[in-house]
Amino acid sequence: MELKDIRGLGAKGIEKLARLGITSVYDLLSYYPYRYEILQRTNMDIAKDQEKVVIDGIVESLPRSFYFKRHMNRMSFRCQAQDRIFSVSIFNRSFLKQHLQIGTNIIVMGKYDQKHNTITASDIRFGVLSDAPELVPIYHLTDGITEKQLRQYIENSFSSLPILEDEIPIEISRTYHFLSKSESVRIVHKPKDMNELKKARMRLKYEELFTYMLKLNLLKRERKTEEGLKRTEHHSELQAMIASLPFQLTEDQEKCIFQIERDFLSPHRMNRLIQGDVGSGKTILSFLAIYLNYLDGYQSAFMAPTEILASQHYDNMKKQFQNTSIKIAKLTGKLTAKEKREIYSGLENGDIDVVIGTHALISENVVYRNLGLVITDEQHRFGVSQRANLKNKGLHPDILYMSATPIPRTYALTLYGDMDISSIHTVPSGKKQIITTLKKETEMKDVLMAMYEELKKHHQIYVVAPLIEGGDKEENKDVYTLEQNMNKAFGKVAKMGVLHGKMKPEEKEAIMQQFQMNEIQILISTTVIEVGVDVKNATMIVIFDAFRFGLATLHQLRGRVGRNDVQSYAILISNHETERLSILTHTNDGFKISEEDFKLRGSGDLFGLRQSGDMIFRIANLKQDLNIALRAKEDSERYLEQLPEDQIEQKSICYLD
Ligand code: ADP
Ligand code: MG
Repeated sequence: MELKDIRGLGAKGIEKLARLGITSVYDLLSYYPYRYEILQRTNMDIAKDQEKVVIDGIVESLPRSFYFKRHMNRMSFRCQAQDRIFSVSIFNRSFLKQHLQIGTNIIVMGKYDQKHNTITASDIRFGVLSDAPELVPIYHLTDGITEKQLRQYIENSFSSLPILEDEIPIEISRTYHFLSKSESVRIVHKPKDMNELKKARMRLKYEELFTYMLKLNLLKRERKTEEGLKRTEHHSELQAMIASLPFQLTEDQEKCIFQIERDFLSPHRMNRLIQGDVGSGKTILSFLAIYLNYLDGYQSAFMAPTEILASQHYDNMKKQFQNTSIKIAKLTGKLTAKEKREIYSGLENGDIDVVIGTHALISENVVYRNLGLVITDEQHRFGVSQRANLKNKGLHPDILYMSATPIPRTYALTLYGDMDISSIHTVPSGKKQIITTLKKETEMKDVLMAMYEELKKHHQIYVVAPLIEGGDKEENKDVYTLEQNMNKAFGKVAKMGVLHGKMKPEEKEAIMQQFQMNEIQILISTTVIEVGVDVKNATMIVIFDAFRFGLATLHQLRGRVGRNDVQSYAILISNHETERLSILTHTNDGFKISEEDFKLRGSGDLFGLRQSGDMIFRIANLKQDLNIALRAKEDSERYLEQLPEDQIEQKSICYLD
């Protein structure tokens, strides 16, 4: 069955559905509501003033509309319900007027004003309420498609649909007494009651997560059976390189580099994640891995999320390897065609040992002579398709991920089920803890004083606001208002710069560069400041409306400062949720903070964890459904264990290719 076979759905409708990403009947059926409204008749005899109410009744007077401003209108009429007459008004729905005849049955939802006996409606529907509470699915929509149309399309596709295939193995379905897939899908779009809806949603979430975990497990198995690159031991050279560092590795760092060394020497491919706070010393570990890889005669590709970070890593790496003959190149968008060609040919003929750049390093048609190691970050998590892409190019490098989003081990094992994980808990000694304080908006004077102290020391400051523009002039909620206010306070002693997500990449980069060069002293931005950007002279970060952010996000943000041995400060400004925020004033340990965050908000906000293509779920949500995910993970492992080899083969082909 195709979309065009659905009754009532024409070419125009199909085009609109495509805008929602719906291109097949299955897409349509799995376009699940994101929430439900509960429709239940309010007993108006006991309704309170300003309460939200739902009534059904009949239109008692023809509606009258008033137009005001340019595009606004308000329509009012009387409605008879529960043996009373209410006056109903609703904004910007005058298009309903022609359908509101005297005697028409309607359902009115809105706010009740007891004194005037009026209801200011948020919605008006046609029909009569049933006596049991009714659940109305609400969908994300696009221009030109109404809730009603979408519901109709979905309903019409049910009537002529073959049974949907279950992806959960029958034994597991039985254990949990799951509903069938077809039943669940039907219920989710048209639930009779909450109980049945819960069951159906649970079933569909589990299926998605089970399939995802199964894929991860298959990937892991595949990797364990794939032969790794030929490597030899270079332990003494590694030790010598470590000894030449200007500092001593922390215990966790040491453990991690030796794990990498073991991975290299194992007969299988490496797929390892290093997680640890910003500044915990992950980068140096990646350099050491590159060194080992070089000693084995292989090339390394280092993928950074932005060109700024690529440049930063390039400079550091040059310094690190200055006494070796390792050839390093940087591949960025800024290079001329000729320069690019030179790098391409250097990679192809093996003159270049290490290349640093953004994701173009892998996705474009770069040919490597013998790529042995890819280093990447959480934003470039390789999904099934990217790996297939590497494989198709005949590349089987070892892969090292770096994540500055420390998360507790159980969750890491779930999210990154196909990787081995090294965690760096301890920050290098000698690094000063960031002093974090919590301030109310009424204490702005203290904040400005503290900022002034840093500026006097010729230090730089990050200021973070929740909005780009449109904040109230009195409030410091958007970057442009803040810029003005900061200019009033510090215009004589400091230069401001603004950074936000709607700026072009070149503009952003230019501002970052100016901040790095200390041409700007106060950088006012939304949360876009890149993870890992390293401006050592920045010693303070001031975050407005801090309660709007998760603890992990705030912790990430404050990681922008404290990048050298000068004392650094974070000031969180918030009138709300001060107890939650106070955790940050007590600890600088990212693992602890994310654990708290998980406890407080179900699973925290997992800042920085961009979900890769494989992780896009239609109904499950890794943040909210981690417990289901954990269960699905165990189940999928057990399931694979008992599956005969040829069936595993088959699953691999079906899911991974
Ligand atoms: P990350 O990549 O985890 O954000 P970096 O590797 O950039 O952290 O390390 C931050 C800073 O700490 C760098 O300047 C680095 O040279 C330094 N550093 C790394 N390891 C140690 C250590 N064991 N002792 C002292 N300083 C270290
Ligand atoms: Mg190996």
